[in-house]
Amino acid sequence: MKKVIIVGAGISGMTAGIILQNSGFETEIYEKNPVAGGELTGWKRDGVYIDNCIDYLMCSKKGSDMNGLWHEIGMLEEGLNMYSKDYFFKYEGHGGEITFWRDKERTKREMLELSPEDKDVIEKFFENVTRAESMIMPIDKPMDKMGPRDFMKLGDFAKNVPAAQKAYKGVSVKDLSESFKSPVLRSAVLMTHPENTQAYSFIMSYAMCTSGSGDIPEGGSLAAATRIANKYKAAGGKLHLNAPVKNVKIEGKLASGVVLEDGTEVKADYVICASDANHTFTKLLPSEYMPKKLQKPFGDKEHFSVFSKFHAAFLVDGKTNFIPDTTFWESNGLTVWDKEIKDVGVICYDYDPTITPEGKTILQMKIFQYTDDVDKWFAIADDKEAYEAKKAEIAEAMMHIIEEKCPETKGKITILDTWSPVTYAKRFNAYRGAYMGFVADKDTKTVTTPGVIKKLKNVFLAGQWLMGSGGLPPATAQGKYAAWRICKKEGVECK
Ligand SMILES: Cc1cc2nc3c(=O)[nH]c(=O)nc-3n(C[C@H](O)[C@H](O)[C@H](O)COP(=O)(O)OP(=O)(O)OC[C@H]3O[C@@H](n4cnc5c(N)ncnc54)[C@H](O)[C@@H]3O)c2cc1C
Repeated sequence: MKKVIIVGAGISGMTAGIILQNSGFETEIYEKNPVAGGELTGWKRDGVYIDNCIDYLMCSKKGSDMNGLWHEIGMLEEGLNMYSKDYFFKYEGHGGEITFWRDKERTKREMLELSPEDKDVIEKFFENVTRAESMIMPIDKPMDKMGPRDFMKLGDFAKNVPAAQKAYKGVSVKDLSESFKSPVLRSAVLMTHPENTQAYSFIMSYAMCTSGSGDIPEGGSLAAATRIANKYKAAGGKLHLNAPVKNVKIEGKLASGVVLEDGTEVKADYVICASDANHTFTKLLPSEYMPKKLQKPFGDKEHFSVFSKFHAAFLVDGKTNFIPDTTFWESNGLTVWDKEIKDVGVICYDYDPTITPEGKTILQMKIFQYTDDVDKWFAIADDKEAYEAKKAEIAEAMMHIIEEKCPETKGKITILDTWSPVTYAKRFNAYRGAYMGFVADKDTKTVTTPGVIKKLKNVFLAGQWLMGSGGLPPATAQGKYAAWRICKKEGVECK
C-alpha cells in the first residue's frame, strides 16, 4: 500500500485524505494546530460559540456534484438541518434600503421601485445573475485534464457562465457600483466584495443565494470541520494535531517524506502540500519549485491582491431587530487606521438556534483590511500591548455603532473576541493574513494553477490558492484533484 503524507488539515488536505483512504492508500495528515479544519473553524469564548467561516456554503445545491462531494467528506450529512438563506444581505442608507432577496424577482421589483432610472443597469444585472445560477464546480477530475466531452457534461454552465463573465469583462465591483444612479444601490453593491474585485464575483455570489446553492449547515463551521475530521479518521486516516511540518525532504528528483518541526522524519511515497501556497514555497519547499502560474500573482501586486478582515464578536443580552443573517447600514462612521468607514455591517446568528444561547444574540462585525491596513497590523503585532489596545479601540467603536443602530442593546453588549489579519497569519500560516486566495482585478484573468510541481514528480499541491479567489468549493475540489492525480499515477480508481 503506497503511503501519502498530507501537510495541513484544512478542508483541502482532509478531502484529499478521505478520498485517498477510500481509494486504498495509507495516509497521514500533519497539522500544526490543536484542531483540524484550518480556516473552516470556530471557537468558544466565555462559553459562547464564535463562527469563523461559513457565511454561505457556495455550490451546496441539492443534486449537484459538489453537494455529493460535501456529503462524501462529511461537510454535509443526511438529516443535518440547513439554514436556507432568505436573503444575501440587506443594506440601509442614503434614506432608503434594499434587500438582496433569495427571490431575485422580488429584489428586481424592489430595485426598480427604488430607482426606475437604473432600469437598464438592473435588467442587465438580473440577466447575468440568472446566467450565473448555472455555476457549478467541476469535480470529476482536475480542470487541466478535462477534455471536450467533460466540458459538454457541464451543460448550462459551459454556456451561461462564460456569457455572464463576458458581459462584465473589465468591470470591477466599483465600476458596477458607479453604473447605478441610485446612491442606495451604489453603496449596496460595494458591501460584500473588495472594490477592485471583478464585478462577476459579486454577481456569482448573489446567484449562489438565488439558486439555493448558498445555504448554511446547522452548527456552523467548527461542527463541519469536526465532521470532516471524523470522516477521515473513520476511513482509517491518521490525523496528527500539534504537529507542524518543517519542510519536505527532497532526495534527488523526488521527495522522500517530511521533516517535522521537532526533527522527526517521516517517510512517504507521495507528499501533498495542502498548506497556504506562500508558506509552502518559502518554508516547506525551495521557492524555485513554485509553478510559474503561481509566481505570476505573487509577483504582480498591481493586478492581484489579497485581503483580510478585522473581526469583533459580540454577545447581546436580549434580542435585537437585526435580521437573522447580514445587514449593512450607513453609520456615523467608524475610523480605522485613519480611514473613515461609512457603511458597516453585522451578521446576526439568530438563524442557528444550536449556537445562539437562549434569549441572547450573537453578532459579528467585520471590516475589510487592504494591503496598507494589513501592513499596519503586522507593524504592531509583536507589541502585545499596542496590538491588544488597537483591537479593543476598534471593537469599542463598533459596539457604539451597534448601540446607535439598535438602541435597545445599550448597556447589554459584551465584546466576546477580536481578531485581525495577524491571527490568520499566526494560526494558519496564511499569506498576509489572507482568508481567501488571490483577488484578480478587472483586467486580469483569475488564477488557475494545476497542483503539480514540474521537477518533483511525487509532490502535489492542494488548497484554495490554486483556483479563482479561493473559498471552500475550490479548496475542496483541489483536495480531490490532488488525490485524483496520485490515483492516476498508481493506476487505481479514485473513489
Ligand atoms: C472569516 C472567514 C469567512 C469565510 N467565509 C467563507 C464562506 O462563507 N464561504 C466560502 O466558501 N469560503 C469562506 N471562507 C474561505 C474558506 O475558509 C477557505 O477558502 C478554506 O477554508 C481554505 O481551505 P484550505 O484547506 O485551502 O486552507 P486552510 O484552511 O488554510 O488549511 C491549511 C492548513 O494547513 C495548516 N498548516 C499550515 N502550515 C503548516 C505546517 N507547516 N505544518 C502543518 N500544518 C500546516 C494550517 O494550520 C491549516 O489548518 C472564509 C474564510 C474566513 C477566514
